[in-house]
Amino acid sequence: MTTILEHDDTIVAPATAEGGAMCVVRISGRRAIEICDAMFRGRRPLGEAKTHTLHYGEIVDRDGRTIDDVVAAVFRSPHSYTGDDTVEISAHGSRYIVSEIIRLAITAGARMARAGEFTSRAFLAGRLDLSQAEAVADIIASDSRWSHAVASTQMRGGYSDMLRELRDKLLHLTSLLELELDFSEEDVEFADRKELRDILCDVQRQTRNLAGSFALGNALKEGVGVAIVGRPNAGKSTLLNRLAGDDRAMVSDIAGTTRDTIEATANIDGVVFRFIDTAGLRITDDRLEQMGMARTRDAIAKARIVLHLITPDDPAEEIISTALSQTYIRLINKIDLCSDADAPATNNEHTGDSPVSLAANSNRNMCDTQVAPTAETDRGAENAAQSTMRISAKYDIGIDDLRRLLRSTVATEAVAGGSIVVSNLRHYEALTRADESLARALDALDNGLPADLLSEDIRQVLHALGEITGEITTDDILASIFSKFCIGK
Ligand code: GDP
Repeated sequence: MTTILEHDDTIVAPATAEGGAMCVVRISGRRAIEICDAMFRGRRPLGEAKTHTLHYGEIVDRDGRTIDDVVAAVFRSPHSYTGDDTVEISAHGSRYIVSEIIRLAITAGARMARAGEFTSRAFLAGRLDLSQAEAVADIIASDSRWSHAVASTQMRGGYSDMLRELRDKLLHLTSLLELELDFSEEDVEFADRKELRDILCDVQRQTRNLAGSFALGNALKEGVGVAIVGRPNAGKSTLLNRLAGDDRAMVSDIAGTTRDTIEATANIDGVVFRFIDTAGLRITDDRLEQMGMARTRDAIAKARIVLHLITPDDPAEEIISTALSQTYIRLINKIDLCSDADAPATNNEHTGDSPVSLAANSNRNMCDTQVAPTAETDRGAENAAQSTMRISAKYDIGIDDLRRLLRSTVATEAVAGGSIVVSNLRHYEALTRADESLARALDALDNGLPADLLSEDIRQVLHALGEITGEITTDDILASIFSKFCIGK
């Protein structure tokens, strides 16, 4: 069986998505240039071309029929993405032309590339480390300014440099410790224990910082999860539509439930937010509704932000338990139903019915600026962040302020300042393992445990950090990472 690690052969794949005016077919491997010359007719054969040069010509099939006018870009080993000879053929973006070029390449000896095979070759050739290779996929998937910024820093290798520095420090330590083992009879200490402790603490501080950045990195990469919860008719769907506008992305029907779960995204100042309109919260005996409620609780647990909608006419509130890491925002919706005096000043434009004409006087308690304190005090320190806002989803009152509040929960300043932010779960898990081993190593040091135990703990830290950059890896890990790529990457 061939594995992704075998790369003696020459591979071909379209590098661009269907439907564009142009397409690029990539051919890479030892015989790439010779295989292209079997179909390319230019002023001179590509075999005579220097690296990093462009050549205009025609793709001609074996019967001499011209398939397309193309430009061939030649990259010679080792100065190519994969490290092997590579030709990128830019042609007109027709599905037929692409398939003909690929067919001709295969006839001449190439084989179709597997998912991620170009990037895996780049990794194996040492052109990229593993975290950079993963960032290539992230950058292709990035759909907002900040998901792009995180992937871009990682792809450019800032993260790898930092990890390499940490590994180098630790390698130096273990080599000193292992030297002590060789001289164990003589009871010498090559590694100064104070210096050792300082370095371990320094590495621990940096790995913890990196691991700590994952919540932000993951939110920037995947979108910030926002659960909209509240009783039926509180205005959840109206709010979701208001926030998502035209960006409304997906409506999923889950069979067998009383209502749909609706998810939509909105880009607020370069950050993607994923709003989940959950089933209304209420006590019920209905089994299907209970299932919907279980999904609501699940959505709340997974969200980074919980928007709890209540209305002036329904002051009884459910207590929603949120985690410390979550931001809880209570929204009093339908404030347009409050009396004139209570209605906040707004510069929003209204069309259709005027909110003032809808004003009702019966709900003064919830219309007051300060809301009933019960839930707030009950919740106490449960929430890292909580605030209350008065809005009208239907009449667009307070929605801009809500957007600003949502955006302010995502601290992108660090990314803007060039800080490294971890956005990959695999890396986060490895960092967590590194941290556990570091804690054990420090413990061993503080308790005067023998050098071999200490050295073993440090080796485990090295192993965990090495997994991120791919210094330590297995075929299985590589196959699983690169299989998530598309063909042609
Ligand atoms: P959900 O069940 O929580 O999703 O509530 P909906 O979004 O379906 O809204 C229930 C009703 O409240 C609808 O008739 C909405 O038009 C209305 N509604 C939503 N927001 C407002 C608001 O800000 N003011 C007023 N007056 N009505 C609203």
